[in-house]
Formats: sequence, structure tokens, C-alpha cells
Amino acid sequence: MSNHTPNEEGGICPECGKSFWGRKDKQFCSISCKNRYHNRVVQERRSYRLATLSALSRNYQILDALLKDKRTSADLAELEKAGFDPAFITGHRRGSLRHDDYACFDIRYFRSDTRIFNIRRLRLNGR
Ligand SMILES: [Zn+2]
Repeated sequence: MSNHTPNEEGGICPECGKSFWGRKDKQFCSISCKNRYHNRVVQERRSYRLATLSALSRNYQILDALLKDKRTSADLAELEKAGFDPAFITGHRRGSLRHDDYACFDIRYFRSDTRIFNIRRLRLNGR
């Protein structure tokens, strides 16, 4: 004989892996598992966001240094050795001509398979 009501059902806690009985919509064995699970999810999202911002910041510093050296193009392999990751951009526009336009904040560039070129700074407030 089961001592569970028809509204209850068994589940596996996604935090500790323990099986439990409870209301059909119950997802965790306890409030502390629920809190631990959600705190970890929030922490993982925050870490991912910070890692993304950090990669964008590194890309920006590299592009900014190129512009300060009066360089408007660079080999992608060389940039990647310096820590540039082309997967991190703040904008992308499909090019009307041959190349797509990429943005890292106010710095724009075109990209081929091996190079970035026409690196330029967006004009802000006419400067
Ligand atoms: Zn649990």
C-alpha cells in the first residue's frame, strides 16, 4: 500500500540526486537543494557573462593598440596568439559588398578567413 496521495509523484532531485515524493510540480527534495541549485545557476550565468565581457575587453585592447600603431589590418593567427578571439563581437552586419562588417564597441573591421582589415574607429560626436 502506498501512503502517497494521487497528487503526489516521485522525482529525482537535480541537486543531490536523491529520489523523493511530493506534489507533481515539486522539483527538488528540499528547500536547501532548491536554493543551492538556483544559486549555482545564477553564479554560472554571472561567470559566463564576466568571461564574455573579459574576452570583449581583451579584443578591444588589441584592436585599440593596432590603431594606435596606425595599423588598419592584421593577420588573424597573429592576433589570436596575442589573445584576440574573433568569436566575441558586439555587432555584425552582413556586407553589401564582399565582406561582413564586425564591431567591437566603437571599433569596426572587415574580416576574411585569415585577416581582419579596414580597422577603423566609429566617429562619436564628430571626433
Ligand atoms: Zn536534493
